[in-house]
Amino acid sequence: PPGAELEALQHADVARLLPSPAAESDKYRRGVVGIAAGSARYPGAAVLAVSGALRGGAGAVRYVGPAGDAVIARFPETLVSDGGPAKAGRVQAWVVGPGAGDDAATVAEMLAAEVPVLVDADGLRLAERDTVRARTAPTLMTPHAGEAAALLGVRREEVEAARLASARELAAVYRATVLLKGSTTLVADPGGGAVRVNPTGTGWLATAGSGDVLSGLAGSLLAAGLPPLDAGSVAAYLHGLAGRFAARGAPVGAHDVAARIPEAWRDVR
Ligand code: AMP
Ligand code: MG
Repeated sequence: PPGAELEALQHADVARLLPSPAAESDKYRRGVVGIAAGSARYPGAAVLAVSGALRGGAGAVRYVGPAGDAVIARFPETLVSDGGPAKAGRVQAWVVGPGAGDDAATVAEMLAAEVPVLVDADGLRLAERDTVRARTAPTLMTPHAGEAAALLGVRREEVEAARLASARELAAVYRATVLLKGSTTLVADPGGGAVRVNPTGTGWLATAGSGDVLSGLAGSLLAAGLPPLDAGSVAAYLHGLAGRFAARGAPVGAHDVAARIPEAWRDVR
């Protein structure tokens, strides 16, 4: 209903929002998503973010960072650049932060780009609030409750007890779209308006690396041209469905979830 605080995502809405390539499309028109993630310590985060991005609708996935060899070994279709983001060539959206460790310079460099940027995980801790607020292109932040609590300077329990207000407050403070992960994921725009609620998750998604897959998926949708509220909520919806399809009542790893994204996409279509 108009004026509602919360808006439950429906299958039909997600179907309408899914990008599909025009007959005359090419990979650049479909969008290139850049992934700046992973570190010597956490190369797997880069692999998982790329695994989500490859299934998210962009025409190409570019990877910059120290885990290029691991990424290529698993996903040979990835465009791997050595050298920093400035040398990576054009992208339509960046994903920065999963497994990034303490690489504050890369986070700052991404935030200076005039394309949509998704900030997750370590990137959330490293992103300067005033830098994010000053951005002219959209920013999508994807914290779980613990990360949101650290950004707001409160305890995790306080975020859990007031998830809607926390998502809204973070969005206002950072002037960014905020996707607050958890058993029900919320997506809030900085200008206010109804907050989207994702109904599709499963507790089996509470597994290491699951959020890295989501960040790549959402980044790819940003590169394909979806506004951050749509990119975030469509990604959460598909990720939740993919989790259910992967798990079907049994424990799974994050890479299993990524592999089922195409099936989730087909189910929504
Ligand atoms: P992260 O904490 O960054 O690895 O992200 C975890 C992912 O799993 C997010 O997409 C969460 O929304 C999802 N998730 C975690 N716990 C649950 C749960 N209990 N039910 C549904 N989804 C969950
Ligand atoms: Mg995470």
